[in-house]
Amino acid sequence: MIDTHAHLFEEVYDEDIADVIARATEAGVSKICVPNLDVTSIPRLNALCDRFPDVCFPMMGIHPSNVASDFKKDLEEIHTALEQRKYIAIGEVGIDLYWDKRNLKVQTEAFETQLLWSIEYNLPVSIHAREAFPQVFESLYKVGVDKLRGVFHCFTGTCDELGEALRCEHFLIGIDGPITYKKADFLDYLTLAPLERLILETDAPYLSPVPVRGMRNEPAYMLHTAQKLAEIYHCSLDEVMKTTTKNAENLFNI
Ligand SMILES: [Zn+2]
Repeated sequence: MIDTHAHLFEEVYDEDIADVIARATEAGVSKICVPNLDVTSIPRLNALCDRFPDVCFPMMGIHPSNVASDFKKDLEEIHTALEQRKYIAIGEVGIDLYWDKRNLKVQTEAFETQLLWSIEYNLPVSIHAREAFPQVFESLYKVGVDKLRGVFHCFTGTCDELGEALRCEHFLIGIDGPITYKKADFLDYLTLAPLERLILETDAPYLSPVPVRGMRNEPAYMLHTAQKLAEIYHCSLDEVMKTTTKNAENLFNI
């Protein structure tokens, strides 16, 4: 399997990252996509992916919650980084109105600039949308959704938002630990999305699935999410693993 979204350069893994990678491999997670967060995380991201080059694959971008008033300078640094090594995607980028609604304007500008880079570098984009689907779709249409490909990372939107996401032809839906939570409303309509449009993620160290909910998340735990997905789709675990892995390989070209 491929964990298509895990922040393994975070300090919570400093002590035991080699064990985390070993446990992932043992659980059948052989590749891990690692999204960037901001300019300060670039050296940690690159160091991690240099240390585990066959397992960890870096993305480059600024997370919407890290877009501040001086974001143009940060974007320049992100662009410089993109020139300096191979990244598998632009990410994670997007709009987050859960924490702060006041800076929608700068978040939108940073998001659209990075969407343009996704076209320029011919890379998929990992999109973070939190309480901001209308705004995210507006930016996608404005930049040109048919020229873009990517994933709506950690999808927890409404039924209508799922429908709109699926109409974005070259986009997949990222499925994380919350599908194992009892109170996950989107389970009522998730199966409107065919398995061929889904990829698995952990969003580690966050969003640990049941039965490890509340603990530090790690790629090995993705197996619980895969098992739950098989239950929801009334198919075998093997089919979930094969299909989502193929989807991830095609999207990220790894
Ligand atoms: Zn993330």
